[in-house]
Amino acid sequence: MFFFFRDEKLIREAIERSDFLNKILKGDLLKEVVDAMYPREIKSSEVIIKEGEKGAHMYVSAGGQYEVSVKGKGVVNTFEDIRIFGEMAILYNDKRNATIKAIKAGKVWVLDRTIYQKLMLQFNIKEQDEVLSFLENVPTLNKVGTKVLQKVTTLLKVKYFAPGATIVKQGDRGDKFYIIRAGTVTISKEGEGVVGNYGKGQYFGELALLDEEFRQATVTADAPEGVECLTLKRQHFRDHFGRITEGGTVEYTPKSGPKRSESVREHQDIELKDLTILTTLGVGGFGRVELVQHKSKNLIFALKYLKKFDMVEQNQQEHVYNERNIQLECRSKFIVRLYRSYKDARYIYFLMESCLGGDLWTLLQRQKTRRFDEKDSRFIAGCVLEAFTYLHERDIVYRDLKPENLLIDEHGYIKLTDFGFAKRLGARGRTFTFAGTPEYVAPEIILSRGHDKGVDYWAFGIFIFELLTGRTPFRTNDASHMRTYNKILTGIDSVEFPSYVSSKARNIIEKLCRAIPSERLGCQRNGVKDIKSHRWFLGFDWVKLNEGKLTAPFKPKLKSSTDTRYFEQFKKDNDCPPEETSGWDENF
Ligand code: AMP
Repeated sequence: MFFFFRDEKLIREAIERSDFLNKILKGDLLKEVVDAMYPREIKSSEVIIKEGEKGAHMYVSAGGQYEVSVKGKGVVNTFEDIRIFGEMAILYNDKRNATIKAIKAGKVWVLDRTIYQKLMLQFNIKEQDEVLSFLENVPTLNKVGTKVLQKVTTLLKVKYFAPGATIVKQGDRGDKFYIIRAGTVTISKEGEGVVGNYGKGQYFGELALLDEEFRQATVTADAPEGVECLTLKRQHFRDHFGRITEGGTVEYTPKSGPKRSESVREHQDIELKDLTILTTLGVGGFGRVELVQHKSKNLIFALKYLKKFDMVEQNQQEHVYNERNIQLECRSKFIVRLYRSYKDARYIYFLMESCLGGDLWTLLQRQKTRRFDEKDSRFIAGCVLEAFTYLHERDIVYRDLKPENLLIDEHGYIKLTDFGFAKRLGARGRTFTFAGTPEYVAPEIILSRGHDKGVDYWAFGIFIFELLTGRTPFRTNDASHMRTYNKILTGIDSVEFPSYVSSKARNIIEKLCRAIPSERLGCQRNGVKDIKSHRWFLGFDWVKLNEGKLTAPFKPKLKSSTDTRYFEQFKKDNDCPPEETSGWDENF
């Protein structure tokens, strides 16, 4: 037992020494995670993690000696101290970047991803429910309704006050409300001395939520441990809900139900046998995209086909269902149309509109300066924002914005495609699974806090930075992405902007990339309107854009509806993947 106790302390110290985990695991959560780890004896020569394989565990070495090797480089390091390795596996099942083998027998402590994620989910929900119960006890607030209160829980900030610190002072003007989460405070009044003590779940300063108030008493943090408060600023509350009215309700309640998606479908009569392949447009992770022509009608499409065997191997079934179900329902000028899907023993097929201007990533690389100017960036960003508006109105988060996922149509308009990470939000309005491309993921995704459409606005900020500079702000050359995640958690304020980025552009990026989702532009009561009316978009004609009347900066010069000059040439596909007939694709 004593041995285990000592190990626990060492594991905690190892986590605290890790720049990355230290940002994620603190306080009670750290304790719960350490408690969930279990020991494993390691034999000499045992391979613990293998380069290229997908990982599901994080380890802490506690005895033994280990060797780190990388293909092509051989042994790059050996260690025998207490340290964390394989930690990226707790976020998602990414491939290992190195092999770690024991050269002397020892012991490791193991954390399973499934357990870690379950703990994070429980912890976050428990925390939110506790805060909600605190808020329900505040008379000034409890008439505004559960839906509003649930949202208020995401606006609260944690603030610690050391013993003896004055939290509010009698007679001062107040603009903040406080709830005690841990510790106690002393309330005193001039002339009366100490009038009371408050503890966990109790609150003070609530009148500041209604209007600017003069504080009625002085509140100080007690010894020995000080006090941890949840605070809410009046203005922050108003940004989301407006004023609290005399009847105790708010001026603006969160909008009710999402818009419905479209059900009318075109081209349902077209079968695979009716199509002739003309040429290959692109090659993706799981298959190819071909330009195809209808044999009798004068119609051209893009046909994407994905290898079922590979998708099952890599557990992509849910992603591909999301992609199909969501994209099928979208009818927006700014989203690539998916008409229908097919299946056979080897492939899943998507019949889509063809966008012959190529993809935005290639267009970016073809710019002399490897970046776009502000005017062109504004047009591109405007198209993306319209696609997001359409999706968010239907409670869909996209979660994978990047230039590779944007195509250019024959008019030069930009369209969103690749809906593998898109998700319709459920009753709680949040989702918890890790999704996205490392350089674009929002902090709340890395922290497994639960996320909503705010992650798209974060990615939108990253995307504007990339359009203007040709690179993303948190890029590193670390193959495990840990340094990228570390930089994301450090925040946008530590990013150096090139001097040619205008102050308006910098401002919109900084406002979109706020670490706390409720503070992000687009996440307040006016929603996306706040982004559209930001001064970076000043003079941009949203109406003309939606009517397709705004001149696009990169209108492709196409000779016909089969002109593929904007695409690379690809070799013929002679691959014949194994059949996959388990039946998971029944609904395609
Ligand atoms: P994906 O597998 O969806 O990433 O597609 C791979 C590549 O195929 C893309 O980068 C595009 O160049 C091309 N592509 C995909 N969909 C279309 C489409 N609807 N129209 C034209 N090209 C496409």
